[in-house]
Amino acid sequence: MKNNISQLLLVIVASISLISCSSNALTNKSQLSLVSDQEVLTTASAQYKQFLGSNKVVTSSSGSYSTDAARVTRVSNRIIAAVKEYYKSINKSSELESYSWEVNTVVSKEVNAWCMPGGKIVVYTGILPVTQNDDALAVVIGHEVTHALAKHGNERMSQGLLQQLGGQALSAAIASKPQETQQLFTTAYGVGTQYGVLLPFGRKDEYEADKYGLIFTALAGYDSREAVRFWQRMSSANGGQKQPEFLSTHPSDENRIAQLQSMMDETISKYYRPQKR
Ligand SMILES: [Zn+2]
Repeated sequence: MKNNISQLLLVIVASISLISCSSNALTNKSQLSLVSDQEVLTTASAQYKQFLGSNKVVTSSSGSYSTDAARVTRVSNRIIAAVKEYYKSINKSSELESYSWEVNTVVSKEVNAWCMPGGKIVVYTGILPVTQNDDALAVVIGHEVTHALAKHGNERMSQGLLQQLGGQALSAAIASKPQETQQLFTTAYGVGTQYGVLLPFGRKDEYEADKYGLIFTALAGYDSREAVRFWQRMSSANGGQKQPEFLSTHPSDENRIAQLQSMMDETISKYYRPQKR
């Protein structure tokens, strides 16, 4: 009897998975997607607003961080333009219609940056001493933007829903357990320790984010070869008492650096057009 029930559950979960898989516009991969794009975008928008409201946001117009904010805005805008250009080249521009890009710089010692669904970017001032230059900052932003475009967070959130809430009656679970689903969201997107535990992205997700991140960096006119030096600097920033936030979600090891190097020649020759400085 118990066996029958678990078999039945398996069938239910499998069929949910079947009907809830979608193909990603950027990566062409089929992915588990139990939460609708609309739901994700609405949650992201609310969470982003909440985050900005409870952190120190700086702008390029005044104050001691104006140069940092100007840099983050300038580099992000070029990456966003590169993403649009890339999507146009693969005839997928319509996929970006639901995006409303936003870029913000937050004063914090945390070494971190992220991009929520819909193109909601945050760069912490704490990462700037590690990026050191626009090329490396472009690498970071390109990487984070790819996580959003490839919907890695949605997939992780869907996996979390399956695990934690059982898979059945998911829309009911979302409606009746808003706190749990909100927590899953912030965990899936690595928004910050203040909201709970951070989950590292899986190796495949990281590989994709590196791959397309390098392409967007090069298309934006930045030298994506700086990625190798950036990850080396990030790795040695690990010497302090506390591991940088970004490193806990993005392990930097020889593997990553070797993979980056293996993608580099093709990326540079196909996409890099140095910008005038
Ligand atoms: Zn990543």
